[in-house]
Amino acid sequence: MTVVLSGVPASPGIVIGPVHLLRWEVPEVEPRTIEPGDVDLEVSRLGAACDLAVARLRKVRDRVEEHAGPTEAAIFDVQISICEDADLRLSVETLIRQGFSAEKAFDLVLLEWREHFGRSTNALMRERVSDLMDVQIRVLSLLLDLPDHDPVGLPKGANAILVTHDLTPSLTVQFDREAIAAIATDAGTGTSHVAILARSLGLPAVVGLRDATTRVQAGATVIIDGTHGILCCDPSDERIAEYRARARVEQEETRELQQYARAEAVTADGVRITLRANVDMPDEAAAGASSGAEGVGLMRTEFLVVGRAAMPDEDEQYEAYSKVLRAFAPHPVVIRTYDIGGDKLPVGGFPHEANPFLGWRAIRMCLDEPELFKAQLRALLRAAVHGDLRIMLPLIVSISEVRQTRVLLAEAARELAARGVAHRTDVPLGVMIETPAAVITADALARETSFFSIGTNDLVQYTLAVDRGNIALVNRFQALHPAVLRLIARTQREGAKGGIEVSVCGEMASQPLMAFALLGLGIRQLSVAPRSVAAVKHLVRTIRVSEATLAATAALDAGTAEDAELLLRTHLLAELRAHGDAADGLLALVDAHILPDSSDTH
Ligand code: PEP
Ligand code: MG
Repeated sequence: MTVVLSGVPASPGIVIGPVHLLRWEVPEVEPRTIEPGDVDLEVSRLGAACDLAVARLRKVRDRVEEHAGPTEAAIFDVQISICEDADLRLSVETLIRQGFSAEKAFDLVLLEWREHFGRSTNALMRERVSDLMDVQIRVLSLLLDLPDHDPVGLPKGANAILVTHDLTPSLTVQFDREAIAAIATDAGTGTSHVAILARSLGLPAVVGLRDATTRVQAGATVIIDGTHGILCCDPSDERIAEYRARARVEQEETRELQQYARAEAVTADGVRITLRANVDMPDEAAAGASSGAEGVGLMRTEFLVVGRAAMPDEDEQYEAYSKVLRAFAPHPVVIRTYDIGGDKLPVGGFPHEANPFLGWRAIRMCLDEPELFKAQLRALLRAAVHGDLRIMLPLIVSISEVRQTRVLLAEAARELAARGVAHRTDVPLGVMIETPAAVITADALARETSFFSIGTNDLVQYTLAVDRGNIALVNRFQALHPAVLRLIARTQREGAKGGIEVSVCGEMASQPLMAFALLGLGIRQLSVAPRSVAAVKHLVRTIRVSEATLAATAALDAGTAEDAELLLRTHLLAELRAHGDAADGLLALVDAHILPDSSDTH
């Protein structure tokens, strides 16, 4: 019987294909005692499982090296050496000799090692915790004879739908982009790491499905509808035919929208809007540059680090940034310094935090690790010779963070000069406005920075005190809450007073209703995923800023997010309907992108 699971639409598109189920979690191990006569058997089971895990890890390692390079592949060398570690095997064998089964013994030892490493004051030791967990999952699934948990071995073009609990950094580097056509996860929300990653890769995705990993069968055919947040299991032939038809319509609409990619972003009442793209991976730069975007409004550099064993060095970063700058020249490219932490913890070795979103994240981490930060700043200053680079700082709460960065930037420039390396020293420095503190002190920030970019994903989170990654709070993550709208309006006002540009690069900018609200609040620069550029341009060309302003002004005074949304929706639908058939595609998008609905499986 067909089961339709409903989650959060994270990246648009329809795919029909086989499930690649990946349960990347430490399996439950039931206690099992063994007789003294079984010790040798258990020890040899342990040896066989470790050897097989090593063989698989070598395979993963080779594939990752081929696709992503030797540095990424190095993670798997670490895991191989854990599997082969003599002390580890001896500790497990000792427990087996005390009467524990191989799996229970392995589980207990790995648990102890993870705790021990996690408590270490040495960052390198702490970095090993996630590797230990990966090894624990691999070996235990072999000992317990669980279905293959490895994201390897899928043939190219398998058109598979990866169904997993959450997409961790280590899984991200392992999965084969030529075999995986879409992603479905139990965890995550529209602004969480997995959703951003899926949009960056242009893969259809539904997140926040809660229990999809327990509801689907590996290998079974499912339908994923990333536009509406639906995963359809066991679909009937009629349902498949219906979705094939829908996919054709979506493709046709996307093709039709392409006519707007090259058009100028001018509203129906003649206001010029600047539309840039969020490009997170250097490999996506060329595609992003053909989206019709006038440059890059946000490059999330932490994506360079996802799943890596070590941070990329200055030269590697220089190559990555230069690639994006060259692809978009002569347009501006805004590159954001590392926003590591929160739910984006690309490298291990970070202390466990009770509240990561309020923790050692982004600019805080960079300022506390000046050598790491300066390597990035040097790479940026070097890359700046290839285009119109602008550097942006994330999670700013105080002007002192900007001043400290300027000191490091000056040091970075001096170091490059001493080495005789070509670089620029006049790169504009801007900040992300994503905390209420930044909004409230925006007048002061505007005096010392060159531009603002509003990160609405975080601004909503920190204003409403709603964890952006928590699926249980998805209905409370209200970007149209009047408090958020007022903070955006205030940022725009202070930026204008200070004579600096104000853009919006959070997910709000990609959604027609919210983009309409932003234009009404005075925002004239938006940065969206490359796939959304044409649709947002179409919206811009269809609406009048005068109407958007009326709607947004009313929404600012609305009592609740629901009232604000209703007001905006009513105005926008009237604008679109006035355009007749030409706005049909937009009407559908406005409906698809209503505030996320977390309705349960049905
Ligand atoms: C934001 O917070 O809106 C933003 C663009 O940054 P990120 O999603 O990477 O935190
Ligand atoms: Mg942010």
